[in-house]
Amino acid sequence: MELNARIPAGPLEQKWDRHRFDLKLVNPANKRRYRVIIVGSGLAGASAAATMAELGYAVDCFCFQDSPRRAHSIAAQGGINAAKNYQNDGDSIFRLFYDTIKGGDFRAREANVYRLAQVSLNIIDQCVAQGVPFAREYGGHLANRSFGGAQVSRTFYARGQTGQQLLLGAYQAMEKQIGAGTVRMFARHEMLDIVLVDGRARGIIARDLVSGEMRAFGAHAVVLATGGYSNAFYLSTNAKGCNVTAIWRAYRRGAGFANPCFTQIHPTSIPPAGENQSKLTLMSESLRNDGRIWVPRSQGDTRPADQIPDTDRDYYLERLYPSFGNLAPRDIASRRAKEAVDEGRGVGPTGIGVYLDFRDAIRRLGQSVIADRYGNLFDMYRNITGENPYEVPMRIYPAPHYTMGGLWVDYNLMSTIPGLHVIGEANFSDHGANRLGASALMQGLADGYFILPLTIGNYLAQAKLEPIAEDHAAFRDVEAEARQRLERLLAINGTRTVREFHQKLGKLLWDFCGMARSADGLRFALSRIPALREEFWRDVRVPGSAADLNQSLEYAGRVADFMEFAELMCHDALDRAESCGGHFRTEHQTAEGEARRNDEDYAHATVWEFTGVGEKPREHRESLTFEYVPLSQRSYR
Ligand SMILES: Cc1cc2nc3c(=O)[nH]c(=O)nc-3n(C[C@H](O)[C@H](O)[C@H](O)COP(=O)(O)OP(=O)(O)OC[C@H]3O[C@@H](n4cnc5c(N)ncnc54)[C@H](O)[C@@H]3O)c2cc1C
Repeated sequence: MELNARIPAGPLEQKWDRHRFDLKLVNPANKRRYRVIIVGSGLAGASAAATMAELGYAVDCFCFQDSPRRAHSIAAQGGINAAKNYQNDGDSIFRLFYDTIKGGDFRAREANVYRLAQVSLNIIDQCVAQGVPFAREYGGHLANRSFGGAQVSRTFYARGQTGQQLLLGAYQAMEKQIGAGTVRMFARHEMLDIVLVDGRARGIIARDLVSGEMRAFGAHAVVLATGGYSNAFYLSTNAKGCNVTAIWRAYRRGAGFANPCFTQIHPTSIPPAGENQSKLTLMSESLRNDGRIWVPRSQGDTRPADQIPDTDRDYYLERLYPSFGNLAPRDIASRRAKEAVDEGRGVGPTGIGVYLDFRDAIRRLGQSVIADRYGNLFDMYRNITGENPYEVPMRIYPAPHYTMGGLWVDYNLMSTIPGLHVIGEANFSDHGANRLGASALMQGLADGYFILPLTIGNYLAQAKLEPIAEDHAAFRDVEAEARQRLERLLAINGTRTVREFHQKLGKLLWDFCGMARSADGLRFALSRIPALREEFWRDVRVPGSAADLNQSLEYAGRVADFMEFAELMCHDALDRAESCGGHFRTEHQTAEGEARRNDEDYAHATVWEFTGVGEKPREHRESLTFEYVPLSQRSYR
């Protein structure tokens, strides 16, 4: 497997401009001769589909939801970053670049991150032009708030529904193309595998989830925009349908998988209430602009919050990180919450939680200002917990939320399989070992609106692709494999539900490859996962048939892939004998309990190559060099 990142030469700030000039172009009249498959209609996929069709390409777009508008991106709450410096508080492209490299604990590629910061400016203009209703100041300027890991206000938002509003913008742009016939939309279709011809990505096998019909779709190139895999943990803040299948199937066919263990545990989710819960709900990071995080100073203090005086409260983030306070980055805020709970200072009926308290902000600003800023989030909290957060502090606890790992891509967003491009959360790029809040929407839209539509042209212009028929043997073979897999799942007829297995796997990952990891724990998980996978294939019960709508079958296929993927995640976490960002190995910490990196041995992205189920994957490395932000111990104190 060759890892050529194709980083353009020249000074950092000129790389993208130069590269755009050097990219081969497809003549406008020729673009319609190229068909591109985009799997995913979230912010990354919808923005790419709309832009590529606008450029003239023929696009086929797929999603498993009943409408592209229901992609998980719709759940994003808090905002999207951009280095506009509207606040005149010292922001700049370089500062956003710097914050992202540092926030990711020096495990991202400098050239990509700088380009992301540059392109962030265009995203806001594009979305405003589409009519996205960003919050505005009284005078009409776009408003900003702060997110973790930054000392400037650069987050643009639409109340607590930023993802929804951005997605409506991208969706409308795509709908225009659907109306024009340049995008063919296949909703309720699930990609089950990717098809390679002569080593290049030339199509996919997808199943119509309503009729059960399986079909081959051919194209000149394939783009995966299929989101993140936090649901490997079973409980996460992601929509229940989020999964690893598309990128896992591509990995099995030769795409390198980078840093699978880099997962983000978000500090402000509503704590789990019991064993049978199926999902966790995020309380947006934006709440940390005004909410203060605390636990009782002493263990076992069960007094109601309003009876605990300030002298008996520990505002631990403000105490430990005076420069960033409650806006310390997510990995750090999560670890400190876990530490407080492990010390017996947790709050709420289960003791698994810390307070996020708006008492002081309400006193200072008034309830109506807080309601204007976060009203829908407060309503959501109240509906779920039955507690009124205007009167009692919210209870929060860390939860799996985002995955920085994903398929390896070069500067052109192409994977190690020629013709297979990967965008949005599904790729590994830009966030290193910890993503800063409000940067996922930025990256997804940067990839979809501004980067991929140009870089994919460079591939198409040079690839010399023969026309491909969907009855080509390669399509028939992969389709037969996909069909056999479904039949195998249905034939097991065991005694346990898919959910039971998923829950078990998730707990194993959470306990041993979650917020804190150790070599012993990871070895234990690696010894358990193959046995659990074997039990799954022997004893799972999948009712119904493959010939019509069967949600148990859909779920079983996704969990079967999580069962294989979990092993890769643990291998990667064990292999990386250092702590960095969200990857916290308990053996590698400073005296103050912070992550201790080992730059000498691990300043690289680890890229894994599939060698067979249950086999140790082959390791490759992309070295990371830091010319513009010198490697240093990350500090937010
Ligand atoms: C609760 C929550 C709040 C968040 N808030 C913010 C925020 O405020 N700011 C921020 O920057 N980030 C936020 N994030 C992160 C951000 O929302 C995501 O990283 C981002 O939306 C991912 O976009 P995407 O386009 O890559 O993937 P998604 O939006 O997840 O879309 C994936 C698409 O792929 C399709 N798909 C997947 N697999 C298949 C398959 N096998 N076959 C066919 N289709 C498939 C799906 O149908 C879907 O259309 C939040 C995340 C969560 C969970």
